[in-house]
Parts: sequence; C-alpha cells; structure tokens
Amino acid sequence: MALRDIRIIGDPILTKRAEPVAAVDEEIVRLARDMVDTMYAAPGIGLAAPQVGVSKRLIVVDLSVGQNKDDLIVLADPEVIRQEGEATCEEGCLSVPDIREKVSRPSRVTVRGLDLEGRTVEVEGEDLLARALCHEIDHLDGILFVEKLSPLKRKLIRKKLKKNAASGPIL
Ligand code: ZN
Repeated sequence: MALRDIRIIGDPILTKRAEPVAAVDEEIVRLARDMVDTMYAAPGIGLAAPQVGVSKRLIVVDLSVGQNKDDLIVLADPEVIRQEGEATCEEGCLSVPDIREKVSRPSRVTVRGLDLEGRTVEVEGEDLLARALCHEIDHLDGILFVEKLSPLKRKLIRKKLKKNAASGPIL
C-alpha cells in the first residue's frame, strides 16, 4: 500500500489539462493502485491523477469507499459519451478542504475509457455515481468544482481558504 500526497487548490497541476494515458503499462497500474489506496485512506469516493501530482488522464471512483469490491471503477482516458438530465446537489473535493457547495451535473452519464487491462469499457452512472464521474473527469481538464459556482460564492470560498491556510497547514 502506497499513499500519495493529495494536492490542494492553488497547486498549478490542478488547473492543467492532463495528458492521455494511451497505453496502460505497469506504471499506470501502479499509479491506479496508489490512487485507490489514497482515496480509501482520505477517505473519499473519487480521485483523479492530477490530485496526486500526476498529469495523466486516470480516475478512480468507489461510492462504497472500499466496502464493496464491485463498486471500484478505474478508468484511463475517460470520456462522457452520453449524458441525460440535470441534478443539483452538494459536493466536495479532497483538493478543496472543508468546502461543500451545490453544483449542477447531469443525472445520468455513460463514460467510455480503458480499464487496467487496456480494454475499452463503458460505465453507466446515475445520481451520485454520475456526479462523481463528471467531477473526476473535470479534474482531468483542470477544472475544480468551485469554478462552477457564481463569482460571489467563489470570492467567499477564496476568503475561507485563506483563513484556513492562515490558521495552520491544511495537510
Ligand atoms: Zn475533486
């Protein structure tokens, strides 16, 4: 088990578009395993490679946080190929500590990507799973959920983050 440090808002890697994985090799498999361990330890229900400092298009999602083996989704080069509906719900992010805000997302998505054997797979998600998949794919495009909020909300969050940083290290 290898845990990696989670990058926090303000780190430039979080606003950069990540590079395609293209070929799933040993390094990608190792990175995916470390990301799963890091997600479970946090704990969180999703993590994208840029959040652990690697600018590659790789995401992990597990709504059960390790409780149900079948719930783990690992996708390289994920792409939303279908989306339906809209739902507004509170969400948070391991890279934006202590902030939870309502964000609108599709209520159902189909995502195509590569599994760890390099096979093309499609994953369908509804509600929270759709939200988690979209949130993680946004990370690969350098988008944090707070950027989807109104300018006023963003200003308040910036203030709160500064205050938190001033009162001690976030990690
Ligand atoms: Zn996030």
